[in-house]
Amino acid sequence: MNAGELLGLDRAHVWHPYGPMPGVRDSYLVSSAEGVRIRLADGRELIDGMSSWWAAIHGYRHPVLDEAVRDQLGRMSHVMFGGLTHEPAVRLCATLVELTGLDHVFLSDSGSVSVEVAVKMCLQYWRSRGRPAKRRLLTWRGGYHGDTFQPMSVCDPEGGMHRLWAGVLPEQVFVPEPPGGFDAPVDPGYLDVLAGAIERHSDELAAVIVEPVVQGAGGMRFHSPEYLRALRELCDAHQVLLVFDEIATGFGRSGAMFAMDHAGVRPDVMCVGKALTGGYLSMAATLCDAGVAEGISRGELPVLAHGPTFMGNPLGAAVANASIGLLRGTDWAGEVARISSGLRAALEPARSVQGVRDVRVLGAIGVVQLDHEVDITAATSAAVAQGVWLRPFRDLIYTMPPYVTADADVAQIGDAIAAAAKAG
Ligand SMILES: *Cc1c(COP(=O)(O)O)cnc(C)c1O
Repeated sequence: MNAGELLGLDRAHVWHPYGPMPGVRDSYLVSSAEGVRIRLADGRELIDGMSSWWAAIHGYRHPVLDEAVRDQLGRMSHVMFGGLTHEPAVRLCATLVELTGLDHVFLSDSGSVSVEVAVKMCLQYWRSRGRPAKRRLLTWRGGYHGDTFQPMSVCDPEGGMHRLWAGVLPEQVFVPEPPGGFDAPVDPGYLDVLAGAIERHSDELAAVIVEPVVQGAGGMRFHSPEYLRALRELCDAHQVLLVFDEIATGFGRSGAMFAMDHAGVRPDVMCVGKALTGGYLSMAATLCDAGVAEGISRGELPVLAHGPTFMGNPLGAAVANASIGLLRGTDWAGEVARISSGLRAALEPARSVQGVRDVRVLGAIGVVQLDHEVDITAATSAAVAQGVWLRPFRDLIYTMPPYVTADADVAQIGDAIAAAAKAG
C-alpha cells in the first residue's frame, strides 16, 4: 500500500489518542526509527522530542534491547502467568523491589491497569481490615493517572472531563494543585489545606494518590518534594495509604531514579510503566509494601483478585531487565543532568516569544507554557519543519527526549519548541 492509501484507511477506520472518528487531520506516517530519530515514509527524519510519551529513554533500535527481545523470542514470547512463572519476570520483580525498597510486585500490561490494581489493593486492604467505609481517594488537582475509570476519577477534574462523566465516575476528594516550582519555598497555607482535607475525610479515605514532583499529562507542573514528605506524615497520622504514580517519572526522568527519591520518602503502593521496558513493549507494575499485602491476605478473600491475560509477558520482562540494566550500567544521572542544562539553555530564548507565559525545566523535561491554547496542527508542523517531533497539548509545548540525545539535537529541539510557540 502506498502512503496515500494507508493514510486514507487510517483516517477512515483507525482511532488515535483523544481523536475524533473519522479522523480530521492526517497523522504522520512513520516507516522506522533508530537512535533518537523517527523516519517518516516520505524520507524526512525527525529528532524525537517526546521519547514516544516518556517511554523510549534509550532511543530506538538500541542494540542491547533489540538483542534482549530476540533472545527471549528464541525461548518463548509468552506463557500464561497463572500457575507458571519464568526467569525474566522473577528477575524483573526482584530488581524493582531492590530499586524501590517496596516488597511485592504485580505486573500488568499498561499504566492505567497498574493504577486500577493500586486502587484495588488499597480498597481491599481496608475491607480486609474491617473498614469498608474507607473507599475514597484524595488527590490534588492537575494530576493524570490514566484513562480507565478509576484512574480517570483522580485525573484533574477539568482536563479529565469529569463533567462529561458526572454520575459515572466515583467522586473523589480533590485539594487544589500543589504550589508550582521544584525549588519554591514551601507554602505553609497549602500544608494546612492538605492536613485539613486528610483529617476531615480520614474515615472514608482509602488512600492519597499523587504523581510525585512532576505532574505530567495533567499540566506538566513541578512541585517541591516537601509536599510529599508532608503527605507521608499526614497519611501515617490518619491511617490513610499513600500511592505514588511514577509511571511518567520513573527510571531517571526527573533527575532521580524515582521522583520520590527527591523527597526521601516511600509510598505504601507505587505504579511504574512507560519507560519500564525502554519503550519497547507495553508493561507496567504495581508495587506495595509488606503491610499492604499482609492486610489483604488476612481478609475474608485472602487474594488479590486480578490477573491480566498477558501478565508477566516474557518479552516485556526481558526487555525491561535489559533497559534497567542499561540504565544502571551508565551514568544516567549525568546524562539527564547534561540534557537538563542543554534544555535550560535551549529554551531560554522561548521566554521572549510573544504569548509564552512560563518556561520550566526539571531533569530531562522541558516545558514552554503559553497564555493560550496551542494550535496543535500549526505548532506540530512548525516543529516538524525544524526536524523535530513534538506533541503539544492544551497550552503546553514540551519535551522529554531520550537520555541519549546529543547536545546538538537538544539545541535543535529548543529551536523547534521556539518555532512551535511562535506558530501555535
Ligand atoms: C501515562 C500515564 C498513565 C497511564 O498509563 P497508560 O500506559 O497510558 O495506561 C498513568 N499515570 C501517569 C502518571 C502517566 O503518565
